Amino acid sequence: MLVPFTLSAMTPLEQGRNVFKQIFTDGWAAFLGRHPRLTAVDEVVQKMLGCGDPAKGHALYLCPDCLERHVVAFSCKSRFSLSCAKVYGQNWVETVQEMLHPGVK
Ligand SMILES: [Zn+2]
Repeated sequence: MLVPFTLSAMTPLEQGRNVFKQIFTDGWAAFLGRHPRLTAVDEVVQKMLGCGDPAKGHALYLCPDCLERHVVAFSCKSRFSLSCAKVYGQNWVETVQEMLHPGVK
């Protein structure tokens, strides 16, 4: 069963990410209008804004037992997206840790 999206059901970290996205949703177009030389950055911002949005791309899984449908939204894999940047940072730390201290966990 899919749970409806509500701000109160989100963790503080998720709420912070939502605020970050909301700032760009509200002000990016006007900012880009005043600073047209930043047009090259627009692709990154648009990817971040669409990160986790099923409308921008998703995988649909069907449970073979109960036939319940699960929608998993694609992430943007951008370091500008807070949720994707966290994963990128964790992977980088693990890679460096393994290089510096092989086999130590
Ligand atoms: Zn992302």
